[in-house]
Amino acid sequence: MARKFLISTYGCQLNEHDSERIAGQLVGEGMEATTNVDEANVIIFNTCTIRENADTKFYAHLGHLKTLRETRDDLVIAVGGCMAQAQGGAIMDRVGHVDLVFGTHNVGEVSNLIKQVQRSGKLVAVPEEPAPSGGDLDQALTAVRALPFTAWVTLQTGCNNTCAYCIVPDVRGGEVSRPFADVVMEVNELAKRGVTEVTLLGQNVNSYGRDLTGRGPLFAELLRAAGEVEGIRRVRYTSPHPKDLRPEVMAAMAETDAVCEQLHLPLQSGSNRVLSAMRRGYTAERYLEKLSAARALIADLAVTTDLIVGFPGETHEEFEETLEVAAEADWDSSFTFIFSPREGTKAAAMVEDFIAEDVVAERFARLIGVVERSALRRHQERVGRDEEVLVLGPSKTDPLLVSGRTRQGKLVHFAAPKEAALAGAYAMVTITYGARHHLLGEYRELIAAPRHRRSIPVAAR
Ligand code: SF4
Repeated sequence: MARKFLISTYGCQLNEHDSERIAGQLVGEGMEATTNVDEANVIIFNTCTIRENADTKFYAHLGHLKTLRETRDDLVIAVGGCMAQAQGGAIMDRVGHVDLVFGTHNVGEVSNLIKQVQRSGKLVAVPEEPAPSGGDLDQALTAVRALPFTAWVTLQTGCNNTCAYCIVPDVRGGEVSRPFADVVMEVNELAKRGVTEVTLLGQNVNSYGRDLTGRGPLFAELLRAAGEVEGIRRVRYTSPHPKDLRPEVMAAMAETDAVCEQLHLPLQSGSNRVLSAMRRGYTAERYLEKLSAARALIADLAVTTDLIVGFPGETHEEFEETLEVAAEADWDSSFTFIFSPREGTKAAAMVEDFIAEDVVAERFARLIGVVERSALRRHQERVGRDEEVLVLGPSKTDPLLVSGRTRQGKLVHFAAPKEAALAGAYAMVTITYGARHHLLGEYRELIAAPRHRRSIPVAAR
């Protein structure tokens, strides 16, 4: 019987994709994925360190495995990802039943590290520098992806920015771009296998290629090249940094049919003083200028953002400025977070300026109110339109419906005939109802049947 592995992933899409690459290595070793902790021979936690409660949740999960580990000599418990990179061997000191700690720079050798643990016992492998990226393409191609028709493609690792609240540059290092040809080859290969939608991933995608050319970024060229690959109907990307969003990227979005009308543009705060304390490198005015330039150039553009409430020292007036910018920006949705200090960051040291919890909670509720109003109105404005929807699978809440995403990335639920209910199909749907976080629609016609082989069970995500 095949040995089994279970991967538990925390955090962003970069981590999700790292988990897919690790799964690819283990499947290559003849192992099978499982969701049952009791039958797993290898349990891997791919951790995140962005938010405080992620640590707490992770250590709670890890704690539950103590008894299992004590009764199973063959079990390997491994911890990787950003928290492992930041904390290294301290994780093993704190939780004695962990067998392997690996960092963000050695995701590519996890199966070998596990073999080493099985041969010689506990191991901490957390190099400070990224490994040479020569093997990345092979690894990317063997990744075990959650859905067979949509795929993440990593463009770069690390980040050269120094946002005061963020630990990513410390744990993932500076920006390292993958070779242009490798990325395009990966998209080509994915398309041959039936993938029709790719999402290009990086911490700061707009600066992709700066380190390759020594002159300027190559992201606009890459968007065009990915969009021209035969079989790819949709190209998305995340995350861009507002200071690096350039006119040529907006032009590439507007002129490349496959690039979706969706832009995630994280504002974080509407106060220029707070933005400067955050070391974001732009002002609220500059942000709004870029936003309106993008909207002017790209028809029917959906824009989402990230906001942080209660950054140390944020005054009442500065928060009011964020409310004003939020009203003006009129986003389609926002990921709104309460500031949470991450050890090792500049913001974590600003303890004297931390804002009282009740004040932050009140600000958070008010900001959510503003962003949800614009989200609801924008969704209601879509009622009556015909939209292309990529079917993801059965609805999680109503078995009579399927769920899918429009080009703008909006979740739509609708009743579909058999041929259009297949995950990976594209359907034309008339929007009949708009809520804050989803749309409802009525099926019109099948645009395209799935291209991938349909042997893998799928569910909406
Ligand atoms: S751009 Fe800022 S928030 Fe994003 S990864 Fe880099 S340092 Fe962190």
